[in-house]
Amino acid sequence: MAATPRDVLKRVFGYESFRGQQPAIVAHTLAGGDSLVLMPTGGGKSLCYQIPALLRDGVAVVVSPLIALMRDQVAALREAGVKAAFLNSSLGFEEERAVEQRLRAGDLKLLYVAPERLLGERTLALLETLTLSLFAIDEAHCVSQWGHDFRPEYRQLSVLHQRFPSVPRIALTATADAPTRSEIVERLGLEDAPVFVCGFDRPNIRYHVVPKNNPREQLHRFLSREHPSDAGIVYCLSRRKVDKTAEWLRLRGFDALPYHAGMSAHQRDANQERFLREEGLVMVATIAFGMGIDKSNLRFVAHLDLPRSLESYYQETGRAGRDGLAADAWMTYGLQDVITLRQMVDGSEAGESRKRLEVQKLDAMLGYCELTGCRRQVMLDYFGETLPEPCGNCDNCLQPPETWNATEAARKALSCVYRTGQRFGAGHVIDVLLGKDTERVRSLRHDRLSTYGIGTELELKQWRAVFRQLVARGFLSVDAQGYGSLRLTPSSRALLRGEERIELRRDAHPPRTARRRSAPAASVPPSATDLWQALRAWRRELAERQGVPPYVIFHDASLAEMAERRPRSLAEFADIPGVGEKKLQRYGPAFLEVIARHAAG
Ligand code: ADP
Ligand code: ZN
Repeated sequence: MAATPRDVLKRVFGYESFRGQQPAIVAHTLAGGDSLVLMPTGGGKSLCYQIPALLRDGVAVVVSPLIALMRDQVAALREAGVKAAFLNSSLGFEEERAVEQRLRAGDLKLLYVAPERLLGERTLALLETLTLSLFAIDEAHCVSQWGHDFRPEYRQLSVLHQRFPSVPRIALTATADAPTRSEIVERLGLEDAPVFVCGFDRPNIRYHVVPKNNPREQLHRFLSREHPSDAGIVYCLSRRKVDKTAEWLRLRGFDALPYHAGMSAHQRDANQERFLREEGLVMVATIAFGMGIDKSNLRFVAHLDLPRSLESYYQETGRAGRDGLAADAWMTYGLQDVITLRQMVDGSEAGESRKRLEVQKLDAMLGYCELTGCRRQVMLDYFGETLPEPCGNCDNCLQPPETWNATEAARKALSCVYRTGQRFGAGHVIDVLLGKDTERVRSLRHDRLSTYGIGTELELKQWRAVFRQLVARGFLSVDAQGYGSLRLTPSSRALLRGEERIELRRDAHPPRTARRRSAPAASVPPSATDLWQALRAWRRELAERQGVPPYVIFHDASLAEMAERRPRSLAEFADIPGVGEKKLQRYGPAFLEVIARHAAG
């Protein structure tokens, strides 16, 4: 009897059951259908084409934009006993010939290839002589010129359909917004293919947004309390800030590396390589870093600057906790972020309709930051999904924020902006409200204004929170060219005239209570932590010996299960998720020995 997808799932990958839409996608592809798959990062896209590839005749061609990712995926497949290889510019002549030979001999089930290599006439001609099981186009959003991952070569992939009309194509991405989706469909000629949209919720990620006051200290507190030895990413907007933050973290004893487009390709690759291979490193990076980072045990993603849209935010934070264990998405956010982004969007050279879209996206992002209700509900709603109950795993659910009636304060703020001539930034306007005696106040004679000193009931920090929320919610606009001077907007009138009430969020103090130690420790009971450490040490040794990243051997989730269940026989070991036949054979005995030795001593 022929093997079924379930058999392959268990035998090769060591998993008991499919997740969500995986079975439908696998069945569709197996039957030879084209499709577009939208699935969040960590959702399990790879199996959607790997399993059909193993069950269909011939070799599957996987288009992937990143060399490092390709290499690790191929390494992971080989560990599972799958015949896989890649073709990209990192191979020498001899290695390349060897891969081509295996292709001709029908000795490969999966071939990963960079788009520019695939599109070369030589490769296309070679493929025409082979039996192809399918084309998988990974990170398909790279066709979109609006995204920051745009790859011009992706646009030529329509040639696959023309030259190989009978080979099924499956395009996959974690970017789900409607414009990107239609661009993919159009560019890849997938008009007649079904779209599989998978649940976008990532319940294991805990979202927090904290008001910015001393961002580095806040970051440091977050890392040392919650993730003292975990791997994760810290995102910053500028290269300079990346360098400074990485250096600062190193001085504080964290193993932190920088990554941005201003570094040499060699340095960047070296840092990425270390991040993938070693455990517990912190990568401080611009958004240049991350696409296709396959490291499944990132325990946090932190943002020191606000992303421009919820799509970006969701994608960046989605890199945390791909193994399904608890992870944090943490962000600091303040008045200056709002001003900078508003200016960037207003001052952009894009056409009117494009600009309107950017403003909408930014508004959604700012709205998310200022939420007082469940963050996950709003985020999923933005992606067209409904979460009926608050999630219980975001800061607002865990510690509901207070709001206060800020109508009076908002009126004072707006009126002071007006009285000072709508020519100043928040700093000066707040000085006037607080009745400060500064050089500027004196020289401009702002101490004579009716709004001078009318705001002493609030402190500087509170005023900044008021202004931040007024700008975020569109009651004030920011001058795009100059120094961030604030202006009234059409919606400020009603507030100013006292016809409207406004509730603002009261910025919480950071929680004092000791928080949970986060996973993986949390997912391993205290009684199992020693064994867990021993298993990790053994995995590290194996990984170094073989020159592969540790997670290619076993994911953290598999090690955690071993530490907890303490299998004593190969049969018991085979039941651990992530243990397929090949890994059972290859690693079972040695890991069982680590467990037995631990039990004895
Ligand atoms: P994506 O490419 O969508 O970000 P991956 O394909 O890398 O996600 O899968 C994420 C993680 O989930 C991997 O560790 C993978 O082994 C695991 N995984 C995928 N499908 C299943 C499944 N059906 N059961 C258990 N684990 C799975
Ligand atoms: Zn929530």
